[in-house]
Amino acid sequence: MPVEQLLILIKPDGIKKSLTGNILTKLSEARMVIVAAKVVKVSEELARNHYCQLSSKPFFKELVDYIQGKIYGEPWDRVLAFVYQGEDAISRMRKIAGATNPEEADPVSIRGAYGRITTKGVYENVVHCSSEASESEREIKLWFKPDEIVKLMYPTKKIFLEKEERVVWDDRVVR
Ligand code: UDP
Ligand code: MG
Repeated sequence: MPVEQLLILIKPDGIKKSLTGNILTKLSEARMVIVAAKVVKVSEELARNHYCQLSSKPFFKELVDYIQGKIYGEPWDRVLAFVYQGEDAISRMRKIAGATNPEEADPVSIRGAYGRITTKGVYENVVHCSSEASESEREIKLWFKPDEIVKLMYPTKKIFLEKEERVVWDDRVVR
């Protein structure tokens, strides 16, 4: 079986419902390793880019709002992003995540157990899970920089930036 990697997101409804622990426990059944993890406040640009393949769908605007957690607001308007790696990782993790429509998903899967369909018709299915290798590469590169991943899986190169602005800790400020 090939070693694969994929992007998993705990979506804002998963955060709001306090499901982070339950979801990670379920995912751990696949015995994959986490090679990157972070919390992300999703910009509209990132949301649109992440779901670019669905841009012609009638629910695209709602989907972009959903992944940004707009209906939930502070402090739920964020996602937890992970890169998992392991043998046959994509299909194994997809199985644990469950089908896209939470009503059709296996009730023991994450989406079957915790998802719902909103009155607007959006599938709030608590996790995102890449569905194929080309998609996972695009998504991992969209969500993570090479230095945020402990085990690199795609080629990298060094570039020199001249006037890069960066925010750093300022210990001189009295608070
Ligand atoms: N989605 C939806 N209605 C649909 C299809 C998709 O609300 O009819 C949402 C749902 O949250 C889903 C996301 O759009 O997870 C991305 O859709 P995709 O077809 O890629 O499903 P996934 O790969 O997430 O199972
Ligand atoms: Mg998909």
